[in-house]
Amino acid sequence: MDRIIKGVCFDKKARVSLIDVTEGARKGVQTHDMSPLSAACYARALTVGAYINANLKDKSQSFNLVIDGGGAVGKICIASDSGDLKGFVEEPRAELPLKNGSFDIEGAVGSSGDFVVIKDLGLKEPYVGRSKMVSGNIADDYCEYLLKSEGVHSAVALSEYITKDGVMAAGGIIVEALPDADEEIIFILEDVMSSFTSLSELMTKRSMEDIADFYFGHLKAEIFPAEPISYGCHCDGKIVNIVRSLGKTECEDILSEQGVIEVSCDYCGRKYRFDEAAVKALFKNG
Ligand SMILES: [Zn+2]
Repeated sequence: MDRIIKGVCFDKKARVSLIDVTEGARKGVQTHDMSPLSAACYARALTVGAYINANLKDKSQSFNLVIDGGGAVGKICIASDSGDLKGFVEEPRAELPLKNGSFDIEGAVGSSGDFVVIKDLGLKEPYVGRSKMVSGNIADDYCEYLLKSEGVHSAVALSEYITKDGVMAAGGIIVEALPDADEEIIFILEDVMSSFTSLSELMTKRSMEDIADFYFGHLKAEIFPAEPISYGCHCDGKIVNIVRSLGKTECEDILSEQGVIEVSCDYCGRKYRFDEAAVKALFKNG
């Protein structure tokens, strides 16, 4: 089961989170028929999304993450929907030659655009945070985002283990230094984080709970019980609103040209068809 394990270490001077999105990444690959390279990019973004989601106050709050680095995979979008996570990549079949024997994620994501997080926290205006992409490996880009946009020093390790049989493991570890963390703490945490160059392979052998205990347990840590990560798209109502927002005249024009209005959801791939009767019902009150 996908989950996030949160903890604090060094007497609450740093926060640590271990995130397992293996099943969610597999589900994305299935829904969108992703190539292994697109799947790798998606898994990394999904890990960051799961982290952002787990730090919202409750299900009434939501976020959108858009990673637009200008690479072969195009935009990567992750969002929450009533507490569930969902996402897609613009180019699910992206392919590039291997780089030093590994997926060329930096090339696929690109490093020329923006990393954007929009949070709806129930306030008048949504919170919009934005930073420039710095590497395209998503881990460095999120680290940069946290520093530039939220003023937080962090270390981010993202990892995926994908074979010809599919996604074996995907997830990450994110550490945030709290404002009163001194340099020594940051130094030790950076050292611990350097052990996670092949985290996803480690995840196939040990549970996240074990990893949390083994690597962070001795750092004056308190590790909290795992929280489940759930996935889903609840687009029914939203699609109706999109069609309604076109306006009656526009809808009737499309109907007379094409006979039916077809809309598909980028996140879950569901297709919606609105025929004459359905459009009439949409506007029956105006
Ligand atoms: Zn949907």
